[in-house]
Amino acid sequence: MRLCRYGNNRIGVVRGDYVHDVTGVLDRLGPYHYPLPTHDVLIAALDHLRSDIEALAGVSAPVALSEVRLQSPVANPGKLIAAPVNYQKHLEEARGDAALHHQNQIGEIQRVGLFLKATSSMVGPDEGVVIRFPNRRNDHEVELAVVIGKTADRVPVERALHVVAGYCIGLDMTVRGPEERSLRKSIDSYSVLGPWLVTADELGEPVNLELSLAVNGEIRQAANTRDLILSVPELIAFASSYYTLHPGDILFSGTPAGVGPVQPGDVIRASIDRIGEIAVSVRGS
Ligand code: MN
Repeated sequence: MRLCRYGNNRIGVVRGDYVHDVTGVLDRLGPYHYPLPTHDVLIAALDHLRSDIEALAGVSAPVALSEVRLQSPVANPGKLIAAPVNYQKHLEEARGDAALHHQNQIGEIQRVGLFLKATSSMVGPDEGVVIRFPNRRNDHEVELAVVIGKTADRVPVERALHVVAGYCIGLDMTVRGPEERSLRKSIDSYSVLGPWLVTADELGEPVNLELSLAVNGEIRQAANTRDLILSVPELIAFASSYYTLHPGDILFSGTPAGVGPVQPGDVIRASIDRIGEIAVSVRGS
């Protein structure tokens, strides 16, 4: 199943080039009282509501995908976790270009660990990226984004894929410089997620997915998830060895080689096998 959020917080199932409105399923969530859950309540209920969602999709009138404005498929992630350098060629690229990362932040992922991006940086593909510091270098990073579906504390590698709800395309936008990653990569609109969530059962194991990114039609990044240094299960196990993962948490799995700058006016197109494609406009603030 392909689940999207579109328009003004409508929920849809994507079939072919059409969206089927299943927003009514949100009536099945809650009621909630203060303090609100710190996870995404729709993602947490996805397994439970799955058959209702499919049934609703079957009876709702289709709307052309080209007519809708796509938001991030997950509305309320508790945290955006990201792998800093998780492809060998990107590690070599980072070591060879002082502008990419400050010296003390370059190294094998097993040593430097993971980082967090502010949830306020999250947007959907049709909202676009707004460059906040135009005089600095602002780079694109395409990544396979993993959506956590179940609460997971210190999950072993062998069971890690069982806690995944699905996958989407992530852009880990970055202003380069000496500051902590968590600051430079948390600018409003610097975490793009879309076009929809493809459920784990539909996508299968995320082990051999081509991913690519082009800017204004020029291919900048092209790679395959088989070249991840830490695989998706290993990343989940690693992350959950430090903090509990909750439904809706997003894990950016790292970008391959080919990162480079974007400017206002550019259009970024990114695609991942078995997920789809996003087209994201870059503009000035
Ligand atoms: Mn990244």
